[in-house]
Amino acid sequence: KSGFVAIVGRPNVGKSTLMNQVIGQKIAIMSDKPQTTRNKIHGVYTTDHNQIVFLDTPGIHKRQSKLGDFMNKTALNTLKEVEAVLFLADTSEGFGGGDRFIIEQLKDIKTPVILVLNKIDKVEPEALLPMIEQYSKLHQFAEIVPISALNGNNVNTLLQQVEKYL
Ligand code: GDP
Ligand code: MG
Repeated sequence: KSGFVAIVGRPNVGKSTLMNQVIGQKIAIMSDKPQTTRNKIHGVYTTDHNQIVFLDTPGIHKRQSKLGDFMNKTALNTLKEVEAVLFLADTSEGFGGGDRFIIEQLKDIKTPVILVLNKIDKVEPEALLPMIEQYSKLHQFAEIVPISALNGNNVNTLLQQVEKYL
């Protein structure tokens, strides 16, 4: 089986880190500076049975400019064409306005969205359930998977969930 998966989330949630963890190479540019990754970066994850192309999708931001609008439209069209969307949340920061804006964009898209709760290495496990409840109020997520993109914790589980949608 094979397919495309888009990774979305506000700046610094760990999109590039997750992609690097999955692909095992430094293909996405990482930085603490928001919006370093301006273009879609594709990474191909291949196993004996499956091939998944990951798209780092940084273009969904609240922007005032025409260029911003164009980037948003391009990103949204991408989300309609992939097999699954990974919506990354930063559990160490908690829910924020940037999350809400992106989740609102996902409303018009039929693609299954997996809620990925990232940076669990930085939070107490008890903090996760209230966050899950908060995010779940805003969207019907197909799956919910807590991970640490940085140390790789539970990333295999995430890949197994993704493979269900190929
Ligand atoms: P992006 O803007 O969404 O692509 O975010 P990046 O992948 O560039 O990550 C932003 C910052 O968060 C970097 O300093 C990463 O090292 C850090 N980061 C990403 N994932 C994790 C994680 O699971 N745990 C921790 N502690 N830090 C993370
Ligand atoms: Mg990035």
